[in-house]
Amino acid sequence: MCNTCNDHNVDHGPVMPDRRQFLNAALGLAAAPLLTQVATGALAAQTDMPAGTKPISVRAYGTKSATSPLGPMQVERRSVGPNDVLLDVLYCGICHSDIHTARNEWASSMPTQYPSVPGHEIIGRVQAVGSAVTKFKVGDIGGVGCMVNSCGTCENCLADREQNCLNGATFTYNSPDPVSAGHTFGGYSDKMVVPEQFVIRIPPGADLAATAPLLCAGITTFSPMQHWKLSAGQRVGVIGLGGLGHIAVKLAVARKADVTVFTTTPGKIADAKRMGARETVLWSDTTALKRLANQFDLVISTVPQAYPMQPFMDLLKLDATLVNVGALNQLQGLNGMALAFGRKSLAGSMIGGVAETQEVIDYCAARNIKADIELIRVQDINRAYERVVSKDVRYRFVIDMASLKK
Ligand code: NAP
Ligand code: ZN
Repeated sequence: MCNTCNDHNVDHGPVMPDRRQFLNAALGLAAAPLLTQVATGALAAQTDMPAGTKPISVRAYGTKSATSPLGPMQVERRSVGPNDVLLDVLYCGICHSDIHTARNEWASSMPTQYPSVPGHEIIGRVQAVGSAVTKFKVGDIGGVGCMVNSCGTCENCLADREQNCLNGATFTYNSPDPVSAGHTFGGYSDKMVVPEQFVIRIPPGADLAATAPLLCAGITTFSPMQHWKLSAGQRVGVIGLGGLGHIAVKLAVARKADVTVFTTTPGKIADAKRMGARETVLWSDTTALKRLANQFDLVISTVPQAYPMQPFMDLLKLDATLVNVGALNQLQGLNGMALAFGRKSLAGSMIGGVAETQEVIDYCAARNIKADIELIRVQDINRAYERVVSKDVRYRFVIDMASLKK
């Protein structure tokens, strides 16, 4: 059966792109402004697609300022280059990073360029492919996570760590766009144009809406479990049971780790148990936090805001690590003495590379791991943002992008 599409009778090749393909793609990207003319010929063979060398105007949902609600707008996508895939977006998850970006909450390190179209948990159907594309054909299902480009030549890119590209990865939204100039627009839109190397194959039979969140929430929590080698029987803590947190629980349970959730919301205790956590502790339960000191092999923090971290660092065993994937501004409340005496580590981690993203998608498909989602219309997005911020989402909003096309 083909790993690229839902067809049992054909095989479109291996799951993982090899390094040479990746570099070719990077070269293709660098030359894309020159090559769009060439792409037109390739596109002529396809059906139901925007033809021509001009940028494609697509419907989107975004915001014009940090304080405006999101609403409908038109944005431009570049024409499909030789290495590009044109995706008709079917579903897009709502990550808390979308909200930080729309509201310019990372102004000090990553100021938002407006208009801003967030969305980086994208599943779409391939509508057209460039002349050099080998990984996808029209009709296949592809996924796009948080990145759409990187230099492809630095030591981190060559080690499949495109997210840590030394020349700056191009993120799916709010990144300078080296191909089209301007800045990138995300998945709250009708269509995306993405180099094939940054499009993830979605296995046949996947629940597409519930798979979308794996492209950010999934890889962001899977990557630290891989890097810090979380193994069966080890004790792992997950702080914050939201979009990232609930996937972290499911991934850790799949590894047969012993999972404890640390939540501020009493109403989530039953859900954490259903997802496989052995124990759930409220932040307010200082007795439990003290009892659990020095017990944990790994702790993953998904909390979107800074908070006093030392009580959670205290949970770690000697040499164990708390990986912060949540709060990305100034951290709070660390005690140097306590870290030194316990030889405890605090680390950060950001999403994962393309190969590792493919790995988590395949891993979850093989184990039927998917997000708990609330499917919404794009017109309901402002209410959804409020519910994410108030910790009310159970556990990821996913936009049915058909609502944008109406
Ligand atoms: P989310 O769905 O809002 O979940 C965050 C959870 O943290 C909430 O459900 C809540 O869980 C807890 N929480 C929220 N506000 C809190 C507060 N003020 N104090 C204490 N706990 C609070 O968010 P998400 O989409 O999972 O994203 C979480 C964070 O990760 C965001 O900051 C996002 O930008 C970041 N992120 C980072 C990466 C990366 O690569 N490093 C990737 C994606 C997202 P309880 O109700 O259980 O307490
Ligand atoms: Zn995200």
